[in-house]
Amino acid sequence: MLKITECPTCGSDRIKRVRKNLQREGHGKPYVVPRLAFWECPACGERLFDREAMRMIEAHRPVRTRARPRAAATS
Ligand SMILES: [Zn+2]
Repeated sequence: MLKITECPTCGSDRIKRVRKNLQREGHGKPYVVPRLAFWECPACGERLFDREAMRMIEAHRPVRTRARPRAAATS
């Protein structure tokens, strides 16, 4: 499992692993990934997702319905 001790954005060592419902947006539609485990920095709000979390997010992402090309810069 990925171990993070320092926030890559602000350098805070308070970053910690949390488990909570994650609200995201996919193809312009908001969706929720329930009880997702990921890393969150309380100092700057940065969120980091390991491979397991990414897989959960993928699984909950709404299926693309109408093709509307858009530069998705969501990370
Ligand atoms: Zn931070």
